[in-house]
Amino acid sequence: MIKHIKFGVIGVGYLGNFHAQQLKKIRSVHLVGVFDLNSALCKKVAKKHGVLAFKNINDVFNNCDAVSVVTPTPSHYKVAKTALQNRLHVFIEKPIAHKVTDAKKIVSLAEKNKVKLQIGHIERFNPAYRAFCQVPRKPLFIESHRLSPFNVRGSDVAVILDLMIHDIDLVLDLVQDEVINISASGASVVSSFVDLANARLTFKGGVVANLTASRVSDKQMRQLRIFEKNCYSALDLHVSSIKCLTVGNNKEIKNSLLKVKKENALFLELQCFVQSIITGTKTLVSGEDGLSALKIAIKIQKIIEKQKNN
Ligand code: NAD
Repeated sequence: MIKHIKFGVIGVGYLGNFHAQQLKKIRSVHLVGVFDLNSALCKKVAKKHGVLAFKNINDVFNNCDAVSVVTPTPSHYKVAKTALQNRLHVFIEKPIAHKVTDAKKIVSLAEKNKVKLQIGHIERFNPAYRAFCQVPRKPLFIESHRLSPFNVRGSDVAVILDLMIHDIDLVLDLVQDEVINISASGASVVSSFVDLANARLTFKGGVVANLTASRVSDKQMRQLRIFEKNCYSALDLHVSSIKCLTVGNNKEIKNSLLKVKKENALFLELQCFVQSIITGTKTLVSGEDGLSALKIAIKIQKIIEKQKNN
């Protein structure tokens, strides 16, 4: 059994720096070093965390058992592919890739090389979502709003791959059913890609999910509202809180606030990945999960782009 996982982080911009910070806190991890195409940034982040600044990507592969891929989305496939071919366990930030064909190849490469693959759908580890999922759920209707001010980071892909993908993953996890119909609309406001989008997913069993994502907003909002028989839950994923309305036997409405333990979601997801490497168990957010979310995201994107071109 592996005692200490030798870890590397590839891409140490905004989020990669936090990966390094959280990996340092995991007892069974030895963070060996970081790598970034921007060598000055690489050295700065390495110094900050007291680890090696790898000079090239092969040094990462030769010195590590596992890596976090935290490079911009269009480069996930190329970086993850070489890591998997070198038989490293790979954690890829969301989305798994920007093309379905690439995501499929990533999933099969991980299988072929018998290594662990986890995708960074971090909201699965959001304390509010974890608390909500502690009892079995049977959603009838789901509504999500994910709004954020415009940021150049992430604008190299449409808002569907940048933000909405989080909610697509949560909805697929909650409903566990096949999506049989998608309608969508959206617009490009700031970037050349779609910056705001609304999509309505209809599942085979009748559940409907209405998702809205925008990166043209003056405030942050990450809300998931779930309607079940006799129960309405509003999850605020930004501050990690849950408000519930439940219907009593005499049809009286009870208002309650569910207790949510404060935890760092990035720490939890990386710890979960490390545990799956050590124990040989399936990762909580698998490559297949990343692929399923991406397939829906790309369908939404295509519907909106077709409208734009008409
Ligand atoms: P960023 O631009 O701040 O950082 C990316 C870094 O990768 C840069 O420093 C760049 O020099 C480096 N880089 C680019 N290509 C590289 C390569 N081939 N090899 C090594 N380094 C390379 O971007 P970011 O905001 O940190 O986003 C990175 C990824 O994380 C994206 O896929 C994004 O979708 C994801 N992300 C996820 C969340 C989340 O909530 N889970 C939040 C933010 C970003």
